Amino acid sequence: MILLLQAPRAAIAAHVAADYPHEACGLLLGQRKGEKMLVSEAVASPNLADDPAHRFEMDPGLRLRLQKATRQGPEQVLGHYHSHPDGPARPSATDRAGIYEADLIWLIAAVTTDGLQDMAAYLPWADHGGFDKVDLNDAIEGCALNEFFL
Ligand SMILES: [Zn+2]
Repeated sequence: MILLLQAPRAAIAAHVAADYPHEACGLLLGQRKGEKMLVSEAVASPNLADDPAHRFEMDPGLRLRLQKATRQGPEQVLGHYHSHPDGPARPSATDRAGIYEADLIWLIAAVTTDGLQDMAAYLPWADHGGFDKVDLNDAIEGCALNEFFL
C-alpha cells in the first residue's frame, strides 16, 4: 500500500494542472516499511521529452541529486509521478516500454483542463512486462501516520 501525504498530493495536483496540456513529471520521496510506502515529498522535474504532450522524460540530474541528498536516510527515492493530460490514470503502452527499474512506484495522474481528476499507483513487474495496481491512500491524517510506523 502507498500512503500519500497531503503536501505531496497538493504539490502534484498543482504541478500537473500547471503543465497541462503537457505531461508533468517528478520524483517521490519517502520511507518504506515492508510492503508499505509513505510518500512525504514530491519533487517536480522539468519534462525533457521532445514531445511533452505525449511523453515524459525526467531530468536525470535531479534523480542523482536526490539520491545523494537522501543517502543518510530515512527518506529515499520511492518512485516517480507523471500526468496523462486528457487520459486515464493507468499505464500506457509507452509507459510499459519505459520500465527500467522494477522497484519504483509509478504514480499516474489523470488531468484535464479542470485540473487533477484521478490518481493511481502501480509497481512494475520484475520482468518489466507490465504493472500491478497498488492500493493508494491519498488522504492521510496524522493519526494514520502513527499507525504506519508502528
Ligand atoms: Zn504515462
